[in-house]
Amino acid sequence: MEYKKCAHCRKNKKTFFFNSSKMHKGGVASWCKSCGAENQKKHRIRVRYELLCKYSGNPPFCVCCKENNLSFLALDHKFGGGNIHRKKYKLKGIRQISSWAKKNNYPNIFRVLCHNCNMAEAIYGKCPHYKFMSLENNSDTKKYWYETKTFPYEMEWIIAGNGYYI
Ligand SMILES: [Zn+2]
Ligand SMILES: [Zn+2]
Ligand SMILES: [Zn+2]
Repeated sequence: MEYKKCAHCRKNKKTFFFNSSKMHKGGVASWCKSCGAENQKKHRIRVRYELLCKYSGNPPFCVCCKENNLSFLALDHKFGGGNIHRKKYKLKGIRQISSWAKKNNYPNIFRVLCHNCNMAEAIYGKCPHYKFMSLENNSDTKKYWYETKTFPYEMEWIIAGNGYYI
């Protein structure tokens, strides 16, 4: 059984614990499998973080309730059709979604929501937080919301000239 030293953790391990790689000498990768997996995981977290930043702010937050605990946040297809979209472009994970979004100049089809608001939207059509938002007190805003179904926070952002809304 052959051994190889991992270029990351510096441990000598059996080559069985390395992924095979045609690009590397001896046909195995320079990092061991667990270092490689750890690295991939970190990369995924970074990609997810950056994508959430693009669609909310840095640090990322729920555009409805402002929740900013990363574990609660998700990228939501704001007009629906997530499954169709993912299927059409074969977007299986966050990295594929991220590179698709980048390639398409971060289109106005995603928003960051926490799981709570996301679920509430699915059940009630719009999140109950809506009624606590200050913009609702403005009758013009209210009218605009009912006519266009544009969420108040989108309008806040449009008014502030912030970002990704076309
Ligand atoms: Zn290692
Ligand atoms: Zn929320
Ligand atoms: Zn909400």
